[in-house]
Amino acid sequence: MRVLAYGCAHNWLHVNADWVVLEPVDADHRPVPPGRPSHTVLLSNLANRVQPLLRYDLGDNVLVRPDACPCGSAMPAVQVQGRAAEMLEFPAGGGHVRIFPMAFGTLLDRVPGIAQFQVVQRRRPRCGCG
Ligand SMILES: [Zn+2]
Repeated sequence: MRVLAYGCAHNWLHVNADWVVLEPVDADHRPVPPGRPSHTVLLSNLANRVQPLLRYDLGDNVLVRPDACPCGSAMPAVQVQGRAAEMLEFPAGGGHVRIFPMAFGTLLDRVPGIAQFQVVQRRRPRCGCG
């Protein structure tokens, strides 16, 4: 997201809104208001006339800051919460449950000293549910 946005000292990414349009949306591509995590985000950029991007689905869960960032930037501020397409699966009751990685992000964001993290699922759970 470096070209799309730049990080500030308050751990937000400020979108280069004069260059790209980011639309946080739910699973049905309906707009999600600031302050609520999105299912994914759509990217549009018309600067490249050879290969313009129109509502390209990045697959990132983002949270748009609903208020002004204390760093003073007037650009929209977002935080990437995880990936929409990569659900984690855990065995449960003979089947399995699927959990958004964002659930771990919400938890780990509250642990002092953790600035970044990565959740890796090495294999899918075995179950009789197919
Ligand atoms: Zn900021």
